[in-house]
Amino acid sequence: MTADTDPTCLFCRIVAGELPSTREYDDDLMIAIRDIAPRAPTHLLLLPKRHIESALDLTEADGELLARLFSVAADLARSMGIADAGYRLVSNVGSWGGQSVDHLHIHLMGGRAFDWPPG
Ligand code: AMP
Repeated sequence: MTADTDPTCLFCRIVAGELPSTREYDDDLMIAIRDIAPRAPTHLLLLPKRHIESALDLTEADGELLARLFSVAADLARSMGIADAGYRLVSNVGSWGGQSVDHLHIHLMGGRAFDWPPG
């Protein structure tokens, strides 16, 4: 069982409003913020308010949260004008996956074309 919040976690502190962020979306389950070091013209991070370390810790019980994260990503992609050209959703897991903040987040990136496979 994961604790609801971790006071040492950067994204928990952003959720709590203890650290600044540019919030583009906020509801009971999640927020979306601007990435501080954007790798694309549009680069948002969608994250649960509850502390979940990574996608490795998700279970069936997180279905509502997952549906929310992906449907809000689609809404934001449309409202930010990147939906028609296409965009990328990424969630890095662990060190080889490139995860640097241990609080589940989905990168929403758009406004340019992306290579496949990623580096
Ligand atoms: P990852 O490397 O997949 O764990 O993604 C973490 C992301 O968080 C990176 O793209 C960072 O640029 C971003 N990031 C780190 N600190 C902050 C912050 N204070 N506010 C917004 N984004 C951040």
